[in-house]
Amino acid sequence: MRTASITEQLYAELQCPSCGDHLVSRKSADPWAICFVCSRDHRFFIMPQGPLAAFTATAASITLPEIGGLSTLDIASFWLSDPRARWVLNDQLAILLRSIVESRRISSEPHFSFCPICGEAVEEYERPLDLYMRGLRCQNDHRWALRGGRLFSAMETVRLELQAEYSDAVVSQLIAAWLKRDPHLEPNLHDSVRQVLLSSPLCPQGAT
Ligand SMILES: [Zn+2]
Ligand SMILES: [Zn+2]
Repeated sequence: MRTASITEQLYAELQCPSCGDHLVSRKSADPWAICFVCSRDHRFFIMPQGPLAAFTATAASITLPEIGGLSTLDIASFWLSDPRARWVLNDQLAILLRSIVESRRISSEPHFSFCPICGEAVEEYERPLDLYMRGLRCQNDHRWALRGGRLFSAMETVRLELQAEYSDAVVSQLIAAWLKRDPHLEPNLHDSVRQVLLSSPLCPQGAT
């Protein structure tokens, strides 16, 4: 695993996509991600370069004697921080584990209304590249693509991907999706991670 990286200058000058305020970096429960927060407590993450699907599909079968006897929250922190575990941890599961460890309450989805580079308002500028992407652009011609709470630079000169914090409703939906024993997802889900998801107050009733 490699920790997320970003150029120093961009790092110091990022603006909050939700309110246009200045973003500063803060610690989070995910030691491999860079966390940014504004004065209104909107949080965005630069995730580390995720493991390949071929590796995450081995997660269910790895043995981790280190986690014997740990609490569910300590197990979640172990998966987030230990390099061997993290190397096989699906990116979306990493986000869910972080949200469970931090147990913040996020009532609504973040808006993407402002350009992270210059803080000017953005508006839709073209039909999305695919059905799931929205194109956004500011008056300084900084261009972005948005999908699933993640904002991607659509400029060749800037490499940046900002992942917004999931709302509680999205966390619940995703936990339910991971727990429904989908044969495509199961190889990615270690039983200890399943137990962490089940322990979340946001885990929908009836999930097993
Ligand atoms: Zn903000
Ligand atoms: Zn801009």
